[in-house]
Amino acid sequence: MRLVILGGPGAGKGTQVANLCEAFAVPGISAGDLLREAIAQKTELGRSVKSKVDRGELVEDQDMIPFMRDRLHQKDVANGWVLDGYPRTAFQAEELEFLLDGMNQSLRYAVYIEVPPEELLRRSLGRGRSDDAEAVVQRRIKLFHECTAPLLEYYAMRLKLLKINGNQSAEAVEEELLGRLGAQYRV
Ligand code: AMP
Repeated sequence: MRLVILGGPGAGKGTQVANLCEAFAVPGISAGDLLREAIAQKTELGRSVKSKVDRGELVEDQDMIPFMRDRLHQKDVANGWVLDGYPRTAFQAEELEFLLDGMNQSLRYAVYIEVPPEELLRRSLGRGRSDDAEAVVQRRIKLFHECTAPLLEYYAMRLKLLKINGNQSAEAVEEELLGRLGAQYRV
């Protein structure tokens, strides 16, 4: 099972990724966690992306694409994964498709957890992470709508988009999500 999870900051992606990983027994790969790890370890990539991540700006495609390509080639994710926070731009999505084609793999669905912007803001401000100051959160929400929302169209055209109502409790989102994936499986 290979899934991409899309949603603005505070959409509840992390929680649902954990549920999906458990349900399908595959590892989760969080682009944001990998970047924060690289920053903490002060790797070359970590040093070059730190200021962007701190400001809530998107890391350049040319840095992100090889970074994720390396991660997706590792053995622990050979049999499937749930990707959280990647792709975030149309170019990343295209490159992911090329990468998977080349590896004889394919994406099953892009799951969009839909939450209205005002609710994203309310939830994100409650998290208290260093990159969660209000101006940064507002910027991340704006970037989501500008850069990532076009991916919805991209995946819809490929009949891979699964839209889930994220404006409900985490349990209700989980139920809807697993139900929809299960239902799609029986088709
Ligand atoms: P996240 O934890 O997914 O919200 O990501 C935290 C930060 O990492 C984002 O605000 C971006 O600065 C950066 N980031 C994560 N994923 C990507 C991506 N796919 N493309 C560009 N930047 C990213």
